[in-house]
Amino acid sequence: MYKIMSCVGYKYRKSGGRRIIMNKRKKRFTDYIWIISLTYLALGFFNILFAWIGLLCFLIPLIISLSGHGKTYCNIYCGRGQMLDLMGNKLKLSKNRDIPKFLRSKWFRYGFLTFFITMFVVMLFNTYLVFKGTNGLKEAVQLLWTFKVPWAWTNTSMVTPWVTQFAFGFYSMMLTSTILGIITMLLYKPKSWCVYCPMGTMTQLISKAKYSDKSNTSCNSCSGCSSKVS
Ligand code: SF4
Repeated sequence: MYKIMSCVGYKYRKSGGRRIIMNKRKKRFTDYIWIISLTYLALGFFNILFAWIGLLCFLIPLIISLSGHGKTYCNIYCGRGQMLDLMGNKLKLSKNRDIPKFLRSKWFRYGFLTFFITMFVVMLFNTYLVFKGTNGLKEAVQLLWTFKVPWAWTNTSMVTPWVTQFAFGFYSMMLTSTILGIITMLLYKPKSWCVYCPMGTMTQLISKAKYSDKSNTSCNSCSGCSSKVS
């Protein structure tokens, strides 16, 4: 007995721990959303103000989930998920190991979500201080909430400083989560980041609250992250 599963662009079955590709399905435009994610990250190097576009990655999954479509964003529209999948599976950059149990545990996933939201609120507060004139604009991207990378080469004179400060803060979060996603992809299965991705956890929670039918609350069965998120 084997289970047929699907991943970006193909169907496969698992046999003895190996994936056997059965047939390629026709590519859809939704298979290329990873290009948008990559472009977004690149645009931040040219002008930090493009970071504002990333708000869509926060709002769209929540809207989809709240409007009754469960994890559709994760399963079809998430460019980052696709990017990690392609890097891990197509480019074979992943060690393909199972993610440690503690990363899959509820306390870690909810703890990380809480930490992420707290950092988001701190970032909003810093933006507010610049808006009030209490603090000056800090032209730096903060990676992993620790390392400040000077980022003063972009021209942001056309907007008020708080708009730029928000862009720096938001881009820092997007870049940090991408780095964590890539590290987890390299060390474990390609989509292991999805196990503790704050957006994934939030849409999971919303779906759980909305439905008693659990079939609408989980990711598709690509098993890339080896998670059975409960
Ligand atoms: S869990 Fe996060 S990274 Fe993974 S598919 Fe969902 S939103 Fe994208």
